Amino acid sequence: MNNISVQDVKGVGPKLAETLKKIGIHTVEDLLYYFPNRYDHYEQKPLHELIHNEKVTIVGEVIHDPTVQFYQRKKSRMIVSLRVDGAVVKGVLFNRAFAKKHFIPGEEVSVNGKWDQHRLQITIDNYKMGTIDGSSPITPIYSSKGDIKNAQFQKITENALSSFRDQVTEIIPTSYLVNYKLPNRTDALENIHFPSSFQQLKHAKRRFIYEELLLFQIKMQLYRKRNREATEGNAKEISMKKVKQLMEQFPFTLTSAQKKSLAEIFKDLQSPYRMNRLLQGDVGSGKTAVAVISLYGVVTTGEQVALMVPTEILAEQHEESLKQLLPVDVKVQRLTGSIKGKKRKETLTEIENGSCDVVIGTHALIQDDVNFHNLGYVIIDEQHRFGVQQRNTLREKGILADILFMTATPIPRTLSITAFGDMDVSKIDEMPKGRKPVETYWVKHNMFERTVNFVYKEIKKGSQAYIICPLIEESDKLDIQNALDLYHQLQEILKGKATVGLMHGRLTTEEKEQVMNDFAENKVQILVSTTVVEVGVNVPNATVMMIQDADRFGLSQLHQLRGRVGRSDKQSYCILVADPKGETGKERMRIMTETTDGFVLAERDLELRGPGDIFGVKQSGLPEFKLADLVHDYRALETARDDAVDIVENELWKASEFQALIKYLLSKIEIDQQLLN
Ligand code: ADP
Ligand code: MG
Repeated sequence: MNNISVQDVKGVGPKLAETLKKIGIHTVEDLLYYFPNRYDHYEQKPLHELIHNEKVTIVGEVIHDPTVQFYQRKKSRMIVSLRVDGAVVKGVLFNRAFAKKHFIPGEEVSVNGKWDQHRLQITIDNYKMGTIDGSSPITPIYSSKGDIKNAQFQKITENALSSFRDQVTEIIPTSYLVNYKLPNRTDALENIHFPSSFQQLKHAKRRFIYEELLLFQIKMQLYRKRNREATEGNAKEISMKKVKQLMEQFPFTLTSAQKKSLAEIFKDLQSPYRMNRLLQGDVGSGKTAVAVISLYGVVTTGEQVALMVPTEILAEQHEESLKQLLPVDVKVQRLTGSIKGKKRKETLTEIENGSCDVVIGTHALIQDDVNFHNLGYVIIDEQHRFGVQQRNTLREKGILADILFMTATPIPRTLSITAFGDMDVSKIDEMPKGRKPVETYWVKHNMFERTVNFVYKEIKKGSQAYIICPLIEESDKLDIQNALDLYHQLQEILKGKATVGLMHGRLTTEEKEQVMNDFAENKVQILVSTTVVEVGVNVPNATVMMIQDADRFGLSQLHQLRGRVGRSDKQSYCILVADPKGETGKERMRIMTETTDGFVLAERDLELRGPGDIFGVKQSGLPEFKLADLVHDYRALETARDDAVDIVENELWKASEFQALIKYLLSKIEIDQQLLN
């Protein structure tokens, strides 16, 4: 049916076929997979059985002519009084003044819409003259974007189903259908368009949700397989003896989660397959240590390593920690925008002739005139800041090195198996020993003095503090506290008691470095800053994170900011200063005070804002599904994912049972046939 033109359907002439094409319907299959976007259903119930705020159907007698009020320019509101079960019910109909003539006093009418139990009022979506007996059929409503009448849509879909019913072939293996109690494809198509009960409709939907998720997940698994294709000479001969020696000299012992992730990474590095791995670990979980040890392993083979970070501050910080942690004979260089002229030239030469082992830089590292001598391993820190695009850039540049992506964005499981389904994932799900959860408080602006006193008390104990402001310049409109003002204010208040530093995006790189160094060395005790410190910054001696106008930040950003403290065994504090006006703002503050678990936060964020906003759909590369909902259908998603792994990894698809599925998939996506050999 995917090679039968929609024009072969009874009732579809050339003109209608043109219109259908515009909404992406070319074949009979396209038509049958154009599902209704809602269903109308009239089922009458006595008034006392109706549920507040639900969709209901009411049959009543029109008492008198409806009244219509017009407002704004084109809007109208019609009110009709109905006598129902001896009571008077008010029906409200918006912007359909023309319907007035249909409501004739003394006549019976059936209306359908949202019920307000307290006002005995119904907001009418649909109406029908006359009564209905008990219940009417469930009517599919198609969104045809205005060009095709619903009745016509129904008709041609019905025709397509009756003429081509025998040509609908099953694509999901029977064993799966039986296992999950899913209807076959023909029945499901029939029931999603013309369900005789809501039970049947639900079954049909379940099948298509599974079908679309399974197809998607198989595709991701195939991509994953492609990404891992064997590259000659890529099996690295790492000196594990040297790696062990390095680990013994580390200032701390690794957590078992760090060790496990390292083992997974080393296994990939030593295999001939190209690594394409995501290292996920909450802020402060110690991803840098994992990166350093694994990159040292690659250095022992004589190959080069590139470490990419999103900001210059982070590049500099990583350079410092690498120099501290790695043996002195490992040559580390930094290549960022601030490195210019002669120094830049020298560095480029060293990268090119191979005398430099590790290069740290921003994304310019893979884009500019940088030629590596023998690049064997790329690590991308805070990968969410780079976006999916960079993930592909590396591949397009023909860089066949092993790649490790590191991220602290706690991605809910369902999103991560969707957005990162084509990658292997390692998780650091444990904090270094002795860490205390950051105590979080939400205070109002009028408690400013008390908060500053609290900060000062911490400083007297030898600790340091960050104070974050959302913007650097006063904006009347947003009424956001001004970082500069605050900086001057604090300097005044704490004169002779503490040194205050100022950091924001408009400083030059040198100035930023200077401020960051002063803070790292405790020459500055309080750092007033915009969100430039958000990602990755590591100053373990800081124990207070105070965030001004905290309600202006999203949950994941607040979590990132809070992650700047709690990096030692000292008790740390996060103070959210906010007078949120809206309910979501308040809810966000509450959630922050209730949990420090990034994954819990991400789940809550997902509930509050939906998957679209969590880190920007475009960035995360989340696909759009027809029926499946990533929040509600997470179980189907996990099942589909497990099945897809099974089908691809264990080569189940070779069995005859799977031929229809694979053939169908190949007709839908572009993928090298070779993957299936
Ligand atoms: P993130 O995962 O957020 O990048 P970092 O790698 O910056 O975290 O580590 C946070 C802090 O924890 C650093 O000061 C680091 O030295 C320290 N750290 C990392 N691993 C351990 C460990 N196993 N034991 C104790 N401290 C550790
Ligand atoms: Mg980090």
